[in-house]
Amino acid sequence: MTSAVEQLHAVKAKIAGAEREAKRDPGAVTLVAVSKTFAADDIRPVVEAGQRVFGENRVQEAQGKWPALKQAFPDLELHLIGPLQSNKAKEAVALFDVIETVDREKIAAELAKEIARQGRALKLYVQVNTGSEPQKAGIEPREAVRFVERCRDVHGLAIEGLMCIPPADENPGPHFALLEKIAREAGVAKLSMGMSGDYETAIAFGATSVRVGSAIFGNRT
Ligand SMILES: *Cc1c(COP(=O)(O)O)cnc(C)c1O
Repeated sequence: MTSAVEQLHAVKAKIAGAEREAKRDPGAVTLVAVSKTFAADDIRPVVEAGQRVFGENRVQEAQGKWPALKQAFPDLELHLIGPLQSNKAKEAVALFDVIETVDREKIAAELAKEIARQGRALKLYVQVNTGSEPQKAGIEPREAVRFVERCRDVHGLAIEGLMCIPPADENPGPHFALLEKIAREAGVAKLSMGMSGDYETAIAFGATSVRVGSAIFGNRT
């Protein structure tokens, strides 16, 4: 079996290749290693191999494994990439460095309150439901620019980027292009898009970070 560390190096090489192919600067794309469902013991070797940016989709699961790792490696950057319930905003602000899933007023208001109360400098992304899928989180594409503006003007939150998860059964290219267009209109610089199956495509469409789980850690059970 190929180890997570070997697969990490393979993914990083492919990211570098996709950057070259797309005439992007070397290192333009940040790898967010998605470690959801994997235990701290599985994650630690990947940290020791130099990976510093990780993604988790559940606040409670992350609370069980990241505080000790963050204490051992203070330069770790942890991204929340799953839906955030407003009653978890306090815990999320305390643990995560980047929240990629801001998608409604109530969450924006709760985050603003907790960020002020805890005095933490978090980076925030708005999740856009580019496929308008009813079961999926994220703001509707046509409401996204206004929501970014409201985050800033009403809630005092600087939105650094946009994030999307294209429909599983569709060509992701048009979704990546749509996210890039919305980001341009909203004046937002960062694009979190691309997962194990399509991160090289996402880099061609301008991704500044890719969220890669199974291609590094193996299949989740
Ligand atoms: C699980 C997950 C990923 C990683 O998916 P893989 O296909 O395993 O790379 C990326 N983004 C989000 C939001 C996820 O929940």
